[in-house]
Amino acid sequence: MIDINQLQKNFGANEVLKNISISIPAHQVVAVVGPSGSGKSTFLRCINGLETITGGTITVNSHVINAQSPRKVQLKEIHSIRQETGMVFQQFNLYPHKTVVENVMEALLVVKKMNKEDAYKISSDLLAKVGLAEKEKSFPSQLSGGQQQRVAIARALAMEPKLMLFDEPTSALDPELVGEVLKVMKDLAEDGMTMVIVTHEMKFAKEVADRILFMADGVIVEDAKPTAFFENPQTERARKFLRQVS
Ligand code: ADP
Ligand code: MG
Repeated sequence: MIDINQLQKNFGANEVLKNISISIPAHQVVAVVGPSGSGKSTFLRCINGLETITGGTITVNSHVINAQSPRKVQLKEIHSIRQETGMVFQQFNLYPHKTVVENVMEALLVVKKMNKEDAYKISSDLLAKVGLAEKEKSFPSQLSGGQQQRVAIARALAMEPKLMLFDEPTSALDPELVGEVLKVMKDLAEDGMTMVIVTHEMKFAKEVADRILFMADGVIVEDAKPTAFFENPQTERARKFLRQVS
């Protein structure tokens, strides 16, 4: 589903991603872990075109972003990728003046030009799926952080993505609210969704991911199954990281 070849991303003189090549098959759940500043968010943002790439290619569902192609061509490909990709950030970014269900409906009405009734039905079902059926008519400010993040996940799912990207979805939450969000993500994984998740939740990564990518200094230093990575890391860099987070 994702094929990345020699991806480079610089911010000015800062080489943030250094020749990353990796493939992720459909239905795989990949956890990206690593120290702060190692390029994890930039990596995710490149996948759905939120950053202009400096070198290499990114292919998602046969849509290709090539650093060499004209910007106009890249944007067309990025547009296609975005249609098929949901992204969830640390900050929920819900519309404060819209109700919960209106937040989920928004893209269906605006992007898919769906009629209100159909959009409502889909959104209402998705809210039930993330355990928020009774919060439809609430406003975001009336919800806990964990509930807001579940709305953000439902909103991303409304577009029926083939791929979901998560950037530290639980990092802004009070500890007691982390579990309810991870539960929704675990359910999605069990449904077979292809997911790339940047996370500091090592227990979750160990339990739910099929594969761990350990990033440091803009490079994928380890690419392993969770048991192999957590029980037998191959590099000193990974051992040091695991000591710090445990
Ligand atoms: P991580 O998510 O692993 O903490 P990031 O991808 O956010 O790492 O950042 C990697 C590096 O890229 C850092 O040195 C950061 O300062 C730099 N960086 C990220 N975004 C920008 C930006 N928009 N402009 C300039 N530098 C950036
Ligand atoms: Mg980050």
